[in-house]
Amino acid sequence: MTEKPYVLGIDIGGTNTVFGIVDARGNVLATGSIKTQKHHVFDDYVDELYQAASKLITDNDANDKIYGIGIGAPNGNYYTGNIETQINLPWPAPIPLAKVVSEKFGVPTLVTNDANAAALGEMTYGVARSMKDFIMITLGTGVGSGVVVGGQMVYGHDGMAGELGHLTARRGGRPCACGRNGCLETYCSATGVVRTAHEFLAARPDEQTTLRDIQVEEITSKDVYDAAVGGDKMAKDIFEYTGTILGEMLADYASFTSPEAFVLFGGLAKSGEMLMRPLMEAFEKNNMPMHRGKIKIMQSGLPQADAAVLGASALGWEAGRQAASTVATPAQPSVANS
Ligand SMILES: [Zn+2]
Repeated sequence: MTEKPYVLGIDIGGTNTVFGIVDARGNVLATGSIKTQKHHVFDDYVDELYQAASKLITDNDANDKIYGIGIGAPNGNYYTGNIETQINLPWPAPIPLAKVVSEKFGVPTLVTNDANAAALGEMTYGVARSMKDFIMITLGTGVGSGVVVGGQMVYGHDGMAGELGHLTARRGGRPCACGRNGCLETYCSATGVVRTAHEFLAARPDEQTTLRDIQVEEITSKDVYDAAVGGDKMAKDIFEYTGTILGEMLADYASFTSPEAFVLFGGLAKSGEMLMRPLMEAFEKNNMPMHRGKIKIMQSGLPQADAAVLGASALGWEAGRQAASTVATPAQPSVANS
């Protein structure tokens, strides 16, 4: 058997598709990217991806050295290998991602959603390397999560498990894009912070705040962060509110799988004490006594710039292992692995 020391990680975002060659220690040899939206025909998109990634592989002397391909994509389904429901992509769903990519590259390929990929990245190369039970929470435009129990990613019967961002933080609360109300995502994401700012500004019309220097519809979570760092009372209250809700919800999740740690990732996660202090207070206060003081809340250990590629690439090792064990089974025709 030829030595295959690398995996290819592919992260499909609404704007860019980023890919990289990664070794077993999580060193990123090289990365490249293409525009996700350029082609209206899915096969043309995969063609361009193949051309660009093949060049990267050749340039880095990695031909025939790619063990597997892992792809992180919004609504990517581990079981089917498809992007099941279309969000912000130009191709009709379901999009048969794993099948087309594995045929094109001749390399075993697995797909999952971006938050699960982030969890796999932490487990393979990051702060969760020694852990079998942890929960990844990604705080971006929305809130994603990846749940690992007993060393296994929790996918559920249909690949859709672990959407903790859509557990109810406030009954009858803010309407969510998922069709429900009061989801954690509507409070503790970058957009949730902006919604809180709008609410606080309306509810406290006489209070002086630097947030009023910005057109209300143009306020971003970064503006709120900057104002809070500058000592603005309302902005600090917004982070207090956000951190408290997140802490309460993490305490609920803790009683569900009893994780060793929560790993936080994303822009909002890097708000430091402003978010972490109220978060920890609410977390410990709402934890069941048997969990108190035992569960760590950690920051991602992966470099921000490469985190998405690393996360996706982690699934490449699993794709390679699965294919190797499939080939070893006599009943299966031996495919791939040239
Ligand atoms: Zn929701």
